[in-house]
Amino acid sequence: MRAVVFESPGQLSVKDLPDPSPGPKDILVRVAAVGMCGTDIHVFEGDYLGGQFPMIPGHEATGTIEAIGEAVTGFSVGDRVAIDPTMTCGECEYCLNGRNNLCRNWDSMGVISSHGASAELILAPAKNVYALAPDADLFDATMIEPISCAIRALDILPRRIGEHYLIYGAGTMGLLLAQLAPRAGAASVSVVDPNESRLQLAREVGVDIVATGADHLDRENWDVVIDCTGVIAAMEDGMPRVKPGGYFQQFGVAAVDAKARYSPLSITKDEINIVGSMAARHTFGRAVEMFTAGAINVKPMFSHAFTLDDYDTAMETFRKGTGRKLQIRPGAAESQTLQST
Ligand SMILES: [Zn+2]
Ligand SMILES: [Zn+2]
Repeated sequence: MRAVVFESPGQLSVKDLPDPSPGPKDILVRVAAVGMCGTDIHVFEGDYLGGQFPMIPGHEATGTIEAIGEAVTGFSVGDRVAIDPTMTCGECEYCLNGRNNLCRNWDSMGVISSHGASAELILAPAKNVYALAPDADLFDATMIEPISCAIRALDILPRRIGEHYLIYGAGTMGLLLAQLAPRAGAASVSVVDPNESRLQLAREVGVDIVATGADHLDRENWDVVIDCTGVIAAMEDGMPRVKPGGYFQQFGVAAVDAKARYSPLSITKDEINIVGSMAARHTFGRAVEMFTAGAINVKPMFSHAFTLDDYDTAMETFRKGTGRKLQIRPGAAESQTLQST
């Protein structure tokens, strides 16, 4: 199989590797597409904690079943599937208490030590493989993995009917959360981002209230404020806008040594709740349900599809930040622009 391999920090090659063959409980999937996100860049640069080399990247994958291990039931060759990349030990204190996204040996295919999906084939344990509808759009369905992370974020929030949400950042995760929040009870969702072209995409996917900064909005405070930027200035701007008794959620990933400032007094007297959200926990199946139900308008969110051989161009495009969501299509003959931005 052809595969992208991160050989060492900052070094990649595209090469032919032996096809993997499934163990008794594995499924071999022919990859249709795999989404690219900021995590892949961190893995490439070697600044993902615990990340090992060489590594085939890619954790947002879909495809069709190529071969099935002898102990696997309920799947057939040719089924369309999405792959939950999460690998947990099942033995640590957190796994044993049902908090497997906090597993002390947490792994994700394409991120830490298990190979990912930027290849023609990927081997996955059957428990990580989720069947999709026979007519599912496998390119759009790469958004299921990011949706599973957005659902995790909402699982942590109180999801009370009639609350007002403010989201910082109109990137992929901000716009998934903005589309899911009304399903979780939000009366209104406002999205702020200094980038006007991202706000345009926010409008396209149905977000009503968008602005380049929260000062331009009619409301002064919100029940739920979510940072999807990882940018300190955004967090420090958002925290004082949480209503008494409300929630501030840190979703965006900040640099390892970053520090943000907040008012301890307001946390005390206004009973502000500050919560995080780490990857996904028991949410992949529900992400499949929400995708299949058409609850989220994902198509406008993609801008480019790249072949394996153009992986470095994909990373360059990602770094420029001018595109929308990017994906790799290992079976494609050539790279293409899905929509101009
Ligand atoms: Zn990702
Ligand atoms: Zn564990």
